[in-house]
Amino acid sequence: MSLLMNWLESLHIDPNITNKCSRRRNRRSTCSICSEVCNKGSLSLTEEAIEINLETCTSCGECMIACPLSAIEGIPTSREINSGCLIYSDCYTPSVKELLIYKKRGLAHIRVNTSRLNENWEQTINEANHQLTLLGQPVLEIVRKSEEKTFSRRGLFSSLQKEGKQLAKSMTPASWKMNANDWVLRHYYPDDQFYTVDIDKDKCTFCQACFSFCAQAVFQVENESLQIEHQNCVNCRDCYDICPEEAIQIKPEIKKKENSQLGFHIGECRDCGRAFHTFQEDKRTCPVCFNRDSGWLSPFE
Ligand code: SF4
Ligand code: SF4
Repeated sequence: MSLLMNWLESLHIDPNITNKCSRRRNRRSTCSICSEVCNKGSLSLTEEAIEINLETCTSCGECMIACPLSAIEGIPTSREINSGCLIYSDCYTPSVKELLIYKKRGLAHIRVNTSRLNENWEQTINEANHQLTLLGQPVLEIVRKSEEKTFSRRGLFSSLQKEGKQLAKSMTPASWKMNANDWVLRHYYPDDQFYTVDIDKDKCTFCQACFSFCAQAVFQVENESLQIEHQNCVNCRDCYDICPEEAIQIKPEIKKKENSQLGFHIGECRDCGRAFHTFQEDKRTCPVCFNRDSGWLSPFE
């Protein structure tokens, strides 16, 4: 018995928020996606970071699925998936992102054992199917549980055997055990982008704060052009939160992936003499000198 208990305990891992979390890297982060999806109120935002209350957390996995930066680890998701079917349950509503990922992992359909789906499931499936259509993918189908049958003695045993096999499958869906890094849409849809990142060249001072904070390598500076790889964007909003000029917008938009190239100029700052990048040809000062308080003496005069 104690061996069994030890084994069961070894399967339990407490959820853990890693240093990938925006709130741990960026003091200006406004991300609260995980706490919004947790219906137990187990995630609390503090000034410094975000904390999980392990007393109330049920390890449902909602936060791990929702986190755009895959920053929450250690939660096995508790969805019932049987022979490639997601089994409908009133206890939770899957997210659209979750359904899009399941579809690419081989989800055949959603099986409903009751007379009808609840409204939240219906809305989520409709939105997922809308997005699948935009992605050029077959939509998710709903299959109702077939009518109860009366069995002969032989039929009853064969049915129990079948149910037993299905139960075993549902208890060990190894291919459906997913970790934090498995919840990234672009890994499943490599030819498509889900967000478009817009930089307003009139507002941007090319301070490069957004380039440093973006953990997904969306921004690349090459020669005299800024390349934006929209497909890499996961809508974490780190760049939006850090930009002092409010020059960035992230637009949800599904389309075939493309990169943008924004040309820039290299100038020499008239105050500090250092080379700097700018989108405005007539700019004469670098962002550091430009933002220096004019009431202070310049260290370069
Ligand atoms: S571009 Fe902005 S929103 Fe997109 S992944 Fe990078 S930091 Fe996050
Ligand atoms: S943080 Fe804002 S101002 Fe700085 S480079 Fe990015 S978009 Fe431009």
